[in-house]
Amino acid sequence: MGRAVGIDLGTTNSCMAVAEGSEIVVIPSGEGLRVMPSVVGFTAKGERLVGLVAKRQAITNPRNTISSVKRLMGRKYDEVISERLNVAYEIKPNDRGDAMVKVFDREYSPPEISAMILQRMKARAEEFLGDQVTEAVITVPAYFNEVQREATKAAGRIAGFEVKRVLNEPTAAALAFMEPSERKRLAVYDLGGGTFDISILQVVNGIFEVKATSGNTHLGGDDFDARLVDWILKEFQNTQGLDLSRDPVSLQRIREAAERAKCELSTTLEAAINLPFIASDESGPRHLEMNLTRGLIESLIEDLVRMTSEPCEKALADAGLKPEDIDHVLLVGGSTRIPLVRKTVEDIFRQKPAHSVNPDEVVGIGAAVEAAVLAGTRKDLVLLDVTPLTLGVETLGGVMAPIVERNTPIPIKRSRLFSTAVDNQQVVSIHVLQGERELAEGNRSLGRFELVGIPPAKRGTPRIEVSFEIDANGILSVSAKDAVTGRAQGMRVNSSGGLSEEEIRKLMQEAEANAELDRTRMKLVEARNAADQVIYDAGKVLETAMKKLDRESWEDLDNALVGLRQVRDGSDRTRIAKETARTSDLVSQVARLLEVLDKSAPSGGGGAPGESSGDGNIYVLEEDPDAD
Ligand code: AMP
Repeated sequence: MGRAVGIDLGTTNSCMAVAEGSEIVVIPSGEGLRVMPSVVGFTAKGERLVGLVAKRQAITNPRNTISSVKRLMGRKYDEVISERLNVAYEIKPNDRGDAMVKVFDREYSPPEISAMILQRMKARAEEFLGDQVTEAVITVPAYFNEVQREATKAAGRIAGFEVKRVLNEPTAAALAFMEPSERKRLAVYDLGGGTFDISILQVVNGIFEVKATSGNTHLGGDDFDARLVDWILKEFQNTQGLDLSRDPVSLQRIREAAERAKCELSTTLEAAINLPFIASDESGPRHLEMNLTRGLIESLIEDLVRMTSEPCEKALADAGLKPEDIDHVLLVGGSTRIPLVRKTVEDIFRQKPAHSVNPDEVVGIGAAVEAAVLAGTRKDLVLLDVTPLTLGVETLGGVMAPIVERNTPIPIKRSRLFSTAVDNQQVVSIHVLQGERELAEGNRSLGRFELVGIPPAKRGTPRIEVSFEIDANGILSVSAKDAVTGRAQGMRVNSSGGLSEEEIRKLMQEAEANAELDRTRMKLVEARNAADQVIYDAGKVLETAMKKLDRESWEDLDNALVGLRQVRDGSDRTRIAKETARTSDLVSQVARLLEVLDKSAPSGGGGAPGESSGDGNIYVLEEDPDAD
């Protein structure tokens, strides 16, 4: 059996951790980062890029770069479109109305894209641990509904994981933060790129019990970015008379600059946006230069941040608690770095939030704790989670009859008796719903099935027992049974973000077949990255060397650089690596010559590398007699 990891599959970034003995270790993404951007890019050459490399090329390839795919997981096209996502790629409905992503001439379901991210993480983990990684605990926003959970599980399976648990993100954060021996009440406020979650937990004697949870699956940093982007576009149109909203490349540059400025404004009061050559018209090129203040961003997002108060109040009320009853407030998710968000949290809970956690890693770490618990290597804690939304069935007149109320501890099995609505009715249709509205049409439909063969009888006489069973992952199975005949029928929520079981299996095979290809591609991309770094270093060193050293000293490096540039875009990884190594050696040699020169040069006379000493093609090796 392989190892088990914990994965925080985030809207913007993903983070992975593993238990190593009693320690939890964050597995680096392999690009010098501890988190990996949740981005997948497709190039015209048919390459698939994942993580930082995909994010980097988003500017030049916005339409084929998929970010924030978590916001599409298990969702309908109509819902997604009405939210105006701040992305440049094409979203389309499939014939079931599910949101799909179109890249070049292929449509991908959101779980497929998420699986590409997970597959990359799996490969990283295997490289890091030097062992096979087969199992995972994957986190989801607590407020994810059944379909979104199933979609996430499907993504994990496609990537080749056995998904041991779909764990709520705030619960994971609590697992990472609290010692099982503590006895505390905790509020976890989680505002990330695309979702907001609030959970109230209680820890007593190693039992982590979620008391209540609430949130908004469509609220987060992406929405703040969208507000800022709109403002920038309007401002540019007002001052320069040009509409940039229809130019995907400019728009992508603005999006990235807006997000950067937003993050900067969390620590500074002012931030500048500088985007040269953003557009051009008959009067020549146009540049976008703007100064933003913290006050401006706060005024743009204030109403959105305020929208987090109501779910917090609801969760507190559901848990039967007041703000004063909470011992710690934990902040999770990148958007909680925004001072206005922190102030809002402080107002809601009447206390300062805890500062000791890294909001980017705490969820991944907690997922690894749960993975260790499930693997039996940690025995000091037990997790009791709840179902976030009420589940029920549609009854006469389109009214929803609840069967499992929201915030009921899971796993759970609960039944309710129903009967027929008309005389001699032989078929009942069970329409499974999730949500808090009284009328069925206001809630999310999870599916329907029919129970047939009910013996003819007067309305209200047959007894039909409808049972809901929710497993520890929050995943639901429903069955209906006629008490007279014993005939039963059931369903499992299985619309995995637009994927049937058969499709998932097909995609698993495809992903497996692609894994080797991906590894090769990944290595090629890494080789190119390394080449880029050396090309950059060589350019810098050459610039100085050409001014300070004779041709003989740098000629080989110059030639090697030309050679490396030629092979860099090819697909021969071995050649790229060879040329990179050769060039890198020459860079070191020339840099050493420059170092010797600098050391032997009189102080103040040599100049820093890259600075011209004036005369360009001569250099001084002897002491300057006039120098002090
Ligand atoms: P997460 O989904 O938890 O990775 O959070 C990502 C979101 O946090 C994105 O919208 C980021 O722009 C946002 N974010 C990250 N760092 C900061 C920061 N310093 N200030 C404001 N927002 C941030």
